[in-house]
Amino acid sequence: MKKNRCTDSDLGGKVGLEIVFSIGAGREPRLTAEYRKHLEDCECCRESVPLWNEKGQATRRHSLAVRIVNLSRKGDPAILRRNTKEGLALFKPDEHDASKGLYVLLDADHNIFDPEGMNLEDFNRLE
Ligand SMILES: [Zn+2]
Repeated sequence: MKKNRCTDSDLGGKVGLEIVFSIGAGREPRLTAEYRKHLEDCECCRESVPLWNEKGQATRRHSLAVRIVNLSRKGDPAILRRNTKEGLALFKPDEHDASKGLYVLLDADHNIFDPEGMNLEDFNRLE
């Protein structure tokens, strides 16, 4: 079966960008009537929506990790730091429950890994 082509690739591209960027920025995509109509009419774009959602979420996870690294660089005392075998481990405690939070690894090659949910206890045990 041949995959459907986008019926209007200019418009389809805009719809895709809106979804990826909005979710990446942590807000709801603003789909205009024109965008919504295109999604109704274009099977190709409709099938791409889950992929666009995923990309947006990956962007969001990455920018969250970058934000935590930047806070730590600015000396924010809320961000815990530990040197581990893997690199610099950072921990941003949850605002409501400091016994858990987000763990971000910055390795020796300056790669920033996506945040992972972690318990403070496990963070303190990282080697
Ligand atoms: Zn399309």
